[in-house]
Amino acid sequence: ALYTAKNERGSYCFFARQMAEHARLRQELKADLADALDRDQHHLVYQPIYNVQTGQLVRFEALLRWDHPQRGSVAPAEFIPLAEETGLIGALGDWVLRAACSEAALWPSDVGIAINLSPAQFRPSLPFRVADTLNKVGLRPDRLLLEITETVLLHSTAENLRFLEQLRALGVKIALDDFGTGYASLGYLKEFPFHEIKIDASFVSDDSAVAFAIVDSVTKLGHALGARVTAEGVETRQQLDRVRRIGCDKAQGFLLGRPAPAVEFPRHMQAETTLDQPWDHARARRT
Ligand code: C2E
Ligand code: MG
Ligand code: MG
Ligand code: MG
Repeated sequence: ALYTAKNERGSYCFFARQMAEHARLRQELKADLADALDRDQHHLVYQPIYNVQTGQLVRFEALLRWDHPQRGSVAPAEFIPLAEETGLIGALGDWVLRAACSEAALWPSDVGIAINLSPAQFRPSLPFRVADTLNKVGLRPDRLLLEITETVLLHSTAENLRFLEQLRALGVKIALDDFGTGYASLGYLKEFPFHEIKIDASFVSDDSAVAFAIVDSVTKLGHALGARVTAEGVETRQQLDRVRRIGCDKAQGFLLGRPAPAVEFPRHMQAETTLDQPWDHARARRT
């Protein structure tokens, strides 16, 4: 008994130390995040999304990056929750919206931009902020797709639904991101007419028969509801063929193009890239 007690105590100490270390790191990152925007430590990378039936480039999704001066690149999964906790997400979200829309305004008019929204950005001023940004940068509303997760609909549903309606009234498109990973997906589909449903990568990059059945059913469901369907996380040729055969409208994933800084792709867009000639960063840099 003494032996186990000692052991338990030993491992307890180990975990307690790990947790304290983890908490300290979070506090440090939180503090650093506070002036990361002022210090110009954020940038956006853009990942292409293709129509898999026609091969056309449809839009790019803007993905936020943080270059920490000591720690290097910090992943959004790590710092966005911190920005949400501290309320910084408001300023950060505004920055993303402005930067991504300004960038997209430089692109050919048939190429759109997708932006991720945090639940914390759902405040009464959101539709106004979006309208104002589009106006200032001169971007047609239907070129902007806002991606939200089910979490947005978890909080104060009625109010958030009203914001979504207001955004839709502007002519902006709304996507339900990471579909299949939340709690009550089907219920949310009933609440709001999404323009797009993005099937989570965990189903798309899984080659099993079960995953196939899920992607197939969700695509049919999305279409029955009048939505377009995007497969996220397409990593192999086989997965691309599969989502194409299933009838997904669009695909996004490392096979088709990794997220990259905007300077790297104007040439790519002019080259009328199709899916059969996937965007080749290495070649783009060489030429
Ligand atoms: P998301 O919106 O679902 O974005 C797709 C994520 O999948 C990105 O991760 C992208 O790099 C990654 N991805 C794309 N293709 C593949 C693939 O073939 N395989 C794999 N394994 N992954 C792939 P990232 O950039 O780390 O972003 C993670 C999440 O952070 C995003 O998921 C989004 O929820 C959030 N996020 C990113 N940027 C922003 C932002 O500006 N604002 C907000 N609120 N959230 C953001
Ligand atoms: Mg997204
Ligand atoms: Mg997603
Ligand atoms: Mg995600």
